[in-house]
Amino acid sequence: MTIIRKAAVIGSGVMGSGIAAHLANVGIPVLLLDIVPSQLLAQESAAGLTLDHPKVRNRFADQAIDKLKKTNPAPLYSEDFAARITAGNLEDDVSKLADVDWIIEVIVENLQAKQQLISRIEKVWKRGTIVSSNTSGISIHAMVESASDEFKRHFLGTHFFNPPRYMKLVEVIPNEATDPAIVAFMKDFCEKKLGKGVVQAKDTPNFIGNRIGTYGLLVTLREMIAGGYSVEEVDAVTGPAMGRPKSATFRTLDLVGLDTFVHVANNVFDLVTDPEEKDIFRSPELLKSMVEKGWIGEKQGQGFYKKV
Ligand code: NAD
Repeated sequence: MTIIRKAAVIGSGVMGSGIAAHLANVGIPVLLLDIVPSQLLAQESAAGLTLDHPKVRNRFADQAIDKLKKTNPAPLYSEDFAARITAGNLEDDVSKLADVDWIIEVIVENLQAKQQLISRIEKVWKRGTIVSSNTSGISIHAMVESASDEFKRHFLGTHFFNPPRYMKLVEVIPNEATDPAIVAFMKDFCEKKLGKGVVQAKDTPNFIGNRIGTYGLLVTLREMIAGGYSVEEVDAVTGPAMGRPKSATFRTLDLVGLDTFVHVANNVFDLVTDPEEKDIFRSPELLKSMVEKGWIGEKQGQGFYKKV
């Protein structure tokens, strides 16, 4: 019988930190891992720290846990639950993945990066541990193409929506080899333990939620540019006025992260052949130029809105 006593989340950004918080909310201890920073921050140098100091090596996950306590609306039911999340890094702590029952990959939306990470996970993976990806729409099949059959049986997509504590939906996406018992367990676990509403989706580009959601956001963005509307005007109409208290177009894009959104739009753009559909999923220049400038949304303090 499968039990999730302990989990690991790899990638401590917008979604990884939120998923870790939600697992902590329901009493599951979480190991939160990220990459090791390659440069010291000014304050780290001033404090006499070097790149091999654990405080520096765990900086990304540590900062993410700190941020969870300050974010509003709160990702954690109680600030104290942050103690259930342990920060680490992929160099020093990868062997600890053998001690958990569920590993969730939540790194950058890029197939090669995910494949590399998954082959690293497989090396320390303990048979029986479920491994899932929070990808927004990269092929689950492609991620484990070169993995063993046994690993593939334990691998699936579990796609949480942003922010994980508050958004009800989780898409569960099996690959063709996923053990049906693991799919059934994960659906039940997400519903009963995590309080989510589960939709099982096929392994098609961007699954269901983001195939439709990305389409809607891109069409709205293009209409704004063509119509000369302002960001505020469009948000006033597509938010509460449409019965969506929190999901106005540009607030949503800032929350998602414009860099991530471009990757997610490209998941479909790169794979569809129908010219009309390709045009829909092509990211407008405005979006690309904002990403080039580093205006990638709330995580950076500036997107369509500037954090003051
Ligand atoms: P993010 O940019 O906020 O965070 C990514 C984190 O992964 C960063 O902390 C980064 O340091 C780390 N990372 C990058 N490459 C890594 C590697 N090779 N190994 C380990 N860590 C690495 O991104 P995010 O918004 O949290 O998105 C993460 C995943 O979740 C993506 O697959 C994305 O498509 C998906 N997702 C995002 C949203 C959203 O609204 N942002 C919603 C649902 C799903």
